[in-house]
Amino acid sequence: MEEYAETHGAPPSYFVLTMGCQMNERDSETIAGLLSGMGYAPAASKDEADFIAVNTCSVRENADKRFFGLLGQIKKLREARPGLVVAVCGCMMQQRHIVDEIGARHPWVDIVFGTHNIHGLPRLAMGAVLGKARAVEVWDEGGDIVEGLPARRGSPFKAYVNVMYGCDNFCSYCIVPYTRGRERSRGAGEVLKEAKALARDGVKEIMLLGQNVNSYRGALSAAGGVADFPELLLMLEEVGGLERLRFMTSHPKDLSDRLIDAFRRRKTLCNAIHLPVQSGSTRVLGLMNRGYTKEGYLGLLEKLRDASPGIAVTTDFITGFPGETEEDFRETMDLAERARFDSAFTFLYSPRRGTPAAEYEDRVPAGDKHRRFSELVGLLNAISAEKNAARLGRVERALVEGPAKTGQGIMSGRTDSGRLVNFAAPEGLAGAMRDIRITEAKTFSLFGELLPMEGGSAGEGRAAAGPCEVPDRGGREGRRREGRPADGP
Ligand code: SF4
Repeated sequence: MEEYAETHGAPPSYFVLTMGCQMNERDSETIAGLLSGMGYAPAASKDEADFIAVNTCSVRENADKRFFGLLGQIKKLREARPGLVVAVCGCMMQQRHIVDEIGARHPWVDIVFGTHNIHGLPRLAMGAVLGKARAVEVWDEGGDIVEGLPARRGSPFKAYVNVMYGCDNFCSYCIVPYTRGRERSRGAGEVLKEAKALARDGVKEIMLLGQNVNSYRGALSAAGGVADFPELLLMLEEVGGLERLRFMTSHPKDLSDRLIDAFRRRKTLCNAIHLPVQSGSTRVLGLMNRGYTKEGYLGLLEKLRDASPGIAVTTDFITGFPGETEEDFRETMDLAERARFDSAFTFLYSPRRGTPAAEYEDRVPAGDKHRRFSELVGLLNAISAEKNAARLGRVERALVEGPAKTGQGIMSGRTDSGRLVNFAAPEGLAGAMRDIRITEAKTFSLFGELLPMEGGSAGEGRAAAGPCEVPDRGGREGRRREGRPADGP
């Protein structure tokens, strides 16, 4: 790399393209950290990069098509610049047929690696740079969790922290247990150490990540003992400097009274939970292998709202699951009415090769599937709009994240409940926690007025610190998106 820098007057550069969920975004931060450690600098776009990594997702519909379309674009870049190194990784690479197809259609791709061996990237990258030998290294199972990998975070004041990897639930529609492997928890001490280091670094909000954080069982110390997720939360709530904790995602069947109690006693834990329900029909939930009933789910909501009044509950639905009848769908509409979610992602069912549901024969006709999808989204959006409208006039504390997409002089932040709020403010406020009076409510966002800090006037926040690459999210979609995210049950 030094030789390259001497010849070119600048270090070689990298660009990471990320598709899919927060777990992938966090993996991309590690990929960026490893490449930075090798001497690469971030590039502004893939068109300028010397090294392109594509971190793939196999959960959404047409993922293969989108991925191979992207490879077609990158191929043109490679033809123009033969020195360009291209690596592909992520969940899709854990599927043998995809790796075979890359070998057959795109033999020019330099490196193929999977979700379990990201730590091996520097060795594979060096091999590609020096010898341009093609390397395919995909492990079927994750071994021990590799700690201490560098990361280049997307934000100076918000961070993702993995608490566990993989999933043992095998919901019948989901590819994740096959691509991310069995559940493995990080040691509680390791998570705590990372959280403390992030707080020292100026991070104010941590999102704890796991496919099902409710299954977390992390070693407390080498001497023995195991912490469950509520216990881990208690430990993290004591980390000085951290102002907010969130987590993603909880499986309803494993939502314990102890976790509900953590909301009752919360300090920095935000008053929000993502609790994917998927269907309101107990019969369909059985076909999905979800392990709970409609009434059981509604009972959990009651307990949560009793423990922590006003808690924001968000969810995921799938419409058109094989075998879903009109009656089943009415059960889903009934659940949506009664649950009154703050917001929801709704997905049209589409089969994932290798999952049990892909073999189910009783497919819902496309017309019915789409009609049900629209009806459900209409109801969910109306409820979201009502719940946002109920916040008019309230003062909400927001973590200011950066300039809004809506126009100059407007900043965006997130409230405790996770709502997006825009308001007029100077850019220097990014990273500050500020009070906003809500003046306008839309279906998916709020608009407000920045209040002066107590005892002060404008009150500057901290400037965005340090160079932070913001990974390309590969076109994350809005609330009407299809397919499924890999971000939890
Ligand atoms: S939907 Fe969630 S809980 Fe179910 S198998 Fe997939 S990742 Fe695991």
